[in-house]
Amino acid sequence: MKNIVVIGSGVMGRGIAYVSAVGGFHTTLVDISQEQLIRAENEIDSIFEKGLARKKITAADLEESKSRLNYSVSLAQHVSEADLVIEAVPEVMDIKRNIFEVIDQHASEHCCFATNTSTMSPTEIGSFTNRPDKVIAMHFFNPVHKMPLVEIIKGLETSEETAQSIKRAAEQMGKETVVINEFPGFVTSRISALVGNEAFYMLQEGLGTPEEIDKAIKLGLNYPMGPFELGDLVGLDTRLNNLKYLHSKLGEKYRPAPLLEQYVKAGRLGRKTGKGVYDYTAREGVRQ
Ligand code: NAD
Repeated sequence: MKNIVVIGSGVMGRGIAYVSAVGGFHTTLVDISQEQLIRAENEIDSIFEKGLARKKITAADLEESKSRLNYSVSLAQHVSEADLVIEAVPEVMDIKRNIFEVIDQHASEHCCFATNTSTMSPTEIGSFTNRPDKVIAMHFFNPVHKMPLVEIIKGLETSEETAQSIKRAAEQMGKETVVINEFPGFVTSRISALVGNEAFYMLQEGLGTPEEIDKAIKLGLNYPMGPFELGDLVGLDTRLNNLKYLHSKLGEKYRPAPLLEQYVKAGRLGRKTGKGVYDYTAREGVRQ
């Protein structure tokens, strides 16, 4: 694998493009929104700069990695040259379906397709293409440049060859992997969605402030981040979409907390909009 196209330059796509370029792949980050691509480029540049300041990357490696990275709004052209396409568009099946149908028409026969979905079925996503043996879920974690794991999920038709080449690609990006079989929510999202949702129910019940609930979970259960800190980082809209999907597949225990739905309706999506459970516009981590 030499050429990777990452589709969607939001919270996840920009991080995936960064680790891909640093891992030595020629990487094109594609989005329908030029503004998002500009934001993505700024954020990637700032990750490079911080890496340089902390001596995690040399100036020469930084320049080489940057030269492997392109930003574009034209999907078809870049997909035709790709060995691997990684999709990171919103967690909405119709949007993903549309992308996979289009890339299947333009990609060469050998090209593999990975979805960064947190919850959805790679078997179903594979069925939108004529190459279900080459479709897999490649689940990165946020923030991508810091989190060590990629959860690789095989669909019913995914070939062992595809799973192994995706594992090698993830390792070349500096990641540890687990390869598992498909079930909604996989290992990580199934647990994380439950914890995050339960925290919203607690807040709704007036059990404590977000700070108190986060502190209890961090210091009492030894979690590195509280559920609200993590929800704001993930994006509350993404969290809600995950829960809606898991609720439809796994039943009542994943019913989204009404308070979470209210936050999303109010546009309080977390760090990416400046305000979620906490307010990031005034002072870092202070709730309004
Ligand atoms: P996001 O909302 O931050 O970004 C999505 C991007 O996709 C936006 O830039 C949008 O402009 C772009 N987009 C929408 N439609 C498009 C199209 N047709 N073509 C090209 N670009 C398009 O979303 P995100 O948080 O990065 O999540 C992306 C995927 O990753 C989702 O499936 C999500 O479940 C999964 N995921 C998210 C996290 C997280 O912490 N946010 C973690 C793991 C996995």
